[in-house]
Amino acid sequence: MSDVSQKDLDEFAQEADAWFAENTPGEQDFMLPLTFMEVGTDQQFDFLRDWQRSVYEAGYLGAAWPKAYGGGGLTQAHQDLATAAMRKYRGPIILNAIGTGWTGPLLLDIGTEEHKKKYLKGILSAEDIWCQGFSEPDNGSDLGNAQLRAVRDGDEYVLNGSKIWTTNGHYAKYMILLARTNPDAPNKYAGLSFMLCPMTVPGIETVKIRKLTGEHGFTQTFFTDARIPADGLMGKEGEGWNVAMLTLQYERNAKGGQAGGYVITETDPLEILDLARKTKSAGKPVLDDPVVRDQMMDFIIETQALNMGRQRAKLPPLNQDRPMALPLMSKLMHTEYARRINEFAIGLQGANGAYYINEPNAVDAGYWHRSYLNAFSATIGGGTSQIQRNIVGEHVLGLPKTR
Ligand SMILES: Cc1cc2nc3c(=O)[nH]c(=O)nc-3n(C[C@H](O)[C@H](O)[C@H](O)COP(=O)(O)OP(=O)(O)OC[C@H]3O[C@@H](n4cnc5c(N)ncnc54)[C@H](O)[C@@H]3O)c2cc1C
Repeated sequence: MSDVSQKDLDEFAQEADAWFAENTPGEQDFMLPLTFMEVGTDQQFDFLRDWQRSVYEAGYLGAAWPKAYGGGGLTQAHQDLATAAMRKYRGPIILNAIGTGWTGPLLLDIGTEEHKKKYLKGILSAEDIWCQGFSEPDNGSDLGNAQLRAVRDGDEYVLNGSKIWTTNGHYAKYMILLARTNPDAPNKYAGLSFMLCPMTVPGIETVKIRKLTGEHGFTQTFFTDARIPADGLMGKEGEGWNVAMLTLQYERNAKGGQAGGYVITETDPLEILDLARKTKSAGKPVLDDPVVRDQMMDFIIETQALNMGRQRAKLPPLNQDRPMALPLMSKLMHTEYARRINEFAIGLQGANGAYYINEPNAVDAGYWHRSYLNAFSATIGGGTSQIQRNIVGEHVLGLPKTR
């Protein structure tokens, strides 16, 4: 940030504020996805793709990525200001999360010049939607055991096997995937390779899966003699595990470089305050109940703590004792908090909390119930909370390995 003046940043912030004030869409007559993991209809997809494109074209997504690859060539401080403005006006989520959040930074970090030129702009503009093929039907947390087979044949790899829980698999043009190139490697990790895979080649089929919310959002993806260009290999053959671990650092917010914006709608405790004011128990607002007030305050304090943690993580002198503590805790803390605060919002409604969207007596049209069920997604996707706890235990606290 050394060559950026505060005046530049202030002007940029004002422009971003004005743009989001003017251009953030209002309520729609269809349900907008609360996270990038629940885009189930073409209407939702088209709407969110248009939104991402317009944010990008206005200069408020990828502002810190290099100009040569379609970015804005500004600083992370600029992008953070743009994201704050987007949050202030409660703009819809950014659709192409796997592109903007983890494939893009990965390509900027270790991609070839050709990769960067070919893929980065399409990621920002949402022209090219990306998905992630890590999990398999029998290997989720145990990612190192992935079995999708890739056999080199000239300039191509031939893929056979299956991936599952592929978020936006049915809309994606490309997938980042982990495949087994050498089943005889001395250990399971050494047999893996990481590839950028076009989803449009013959032999790749996606089948939608319905979630507990009733919405779609992910697929099972089948590969049957699918031939993909070998130039999509990231790193060398057999180095896939290291590339996957780097990807997960972006995915879990342990490493920066993402294009900006947000991909999950955060619950603001002040919205719950409104809910607690208007919801009645024995004729009185539930907010009058001292226990509820106490719990409410805990959530407000916790939100402040999470926000301050985000700020602190950016200041190395404040993290000298355990530099990886905040980055490695980030996903666990934020996703579990989101689940708990939505659970609390439903609890305030008493028996009415059981009504779901489209049911006549549902409070706020069932928003909280849907938000609660969706909040589980992020506690599982990208590594479950149990796995995150293991990571914090081993890598921050120095506890013995689980296995
Ligand atoms: C909404 C959503 C979107 C997703 N999107 C994608 C995607 O786009 N791409 C993709 O590749 N995957 C995706 N996933 C899959 C996700 O990464 C896996 O579901 C997750 O890693 C867990 O794997 P699993 O489902 O096989 O469960 P398992 O690994 O079978 O785990 C079952 C249970 O055992 C626990 N467990 C397992 N191992 C341990 C251990 N060592 N210590 C303690 N507890 C353990 C887990 O925490 C879990 O509670 C998505 C999942 C969801 C829910």
